[in-house]
Amino acid sequence: MGDHHSFQSLANSIQAVASPFRAYLCDLQQQYQGVREGKVADYIPELAKADPEWFGVSVVTVDGRVYEVGDCHQPFTIQSISKAFVYGLALEAHGREVVLAKVGVEPTGEAFNAIILDEVTNRPYNPMVNAGAIATTDLIPGSTATDRLNHLLDFFRRFTGRQIYIDTSVATSERITGSRNRAIAHLMHNFGMISDRIDETLELYFQQCSILVTAHDLAVMGATLANAGINPVTREQAIDPRYVQDILSVMHSCGMYDYSGEWMYRVGIPAKSGVGGGITAVAPRRLGIGTFSPRLDPKGNSVRGIKVCEALTQELGLHPFNMVPATQDVGSVNF
Ligand code: GLN
Repeated sequence: MGDHHSFQSLANSIQAVASPFRAYLCDLQQQYQGVREGKVADYIPELAKADPEWFGVSVVTVDGRVYEVGDCHQPFTIQSISKAFVYGLALEAHGREVVLAKVGVEPTGEAFNAIILDEVTNRPYNPMVNAGAIATTDLIPGSTATDRLNHLLDFFRRFTGRQIYIDTSVATSERITGSRNRAIAHLMHNFGMISDRIDETLELYFQQCSILVTAHDLAVMGATLANAGINPVTREQAIDPRYVQDILSVMHSCGMYDYSGEWMYRVGIPAKSGVGGGITAVAPRRLGIGTFSPRLDPKGNSVRGIKVCEALTQELGLHPFNMVPATQDVGSVNF
């Protein structure tokens, strides 16, 4: 995964809080550490190098408390989780109507890399599948490739609260094996859905997927969305609050690939997963959850990550339609 000493030491200096809730997280981690179903993504050789045993769970509240266990400071590539945030970047840069004209908000029920566009509007269905994500990346403003990359990195910096690094070997691997994404981009260009900076946008898309994050970062990023766009650790306004609702809505309906319906049923809160093994989940006005475990189910979601989120949502009563009192109370005692 490259050599990122300064990143590691910075990450290791962040202190998590000891508490009954942290003890609960330890139990949860132990309970699921033995789950060995699923397999590490190998569609590109670089991702196959991940240790299948890595497992981290981080919870960050909107008032900045951090509870975490396991490999929460192990960097891995963000992959599709980037799509939710770049959607926010595009909204902030262009406003809702311009973005909606290029990318819809309907779930597909198809795999993330499906080559399909809406037959009537020619739009990709939503920003969480590759087609929609590439169309969103096309909307990253800037007059040169470097400007656009800097804009992207700065945007993620606001959410994580630290400097962003890209795993260049993963980005190279994405580029070398990216024929399907290239085909999707050219198809969308044919329909006037993306500009003619096709190669530049694809390169940016490969770079955004290769951004290095940790489970801790994913929890902070989730907590930033939960906190109306203000990073609860740095207090920086990461995104205009008026777009948080839009991001969370598409995460809610489309964030977990073609498992989004079942996720809604079982877990119920907006989330986004990536084939690097990460999941970010958001309990609005309460907390963000970041999980990392690289073994994936056939739909591309982290097997242990799903189990942890399901347990947490029950424990904390996070499902919006839950009518049963929570076992633990986020806002007050014992957290
Ligand atoms: N970089 C990956 C791709 O475009 C993203 C995949 C993912 O996390 N679903 O294929």
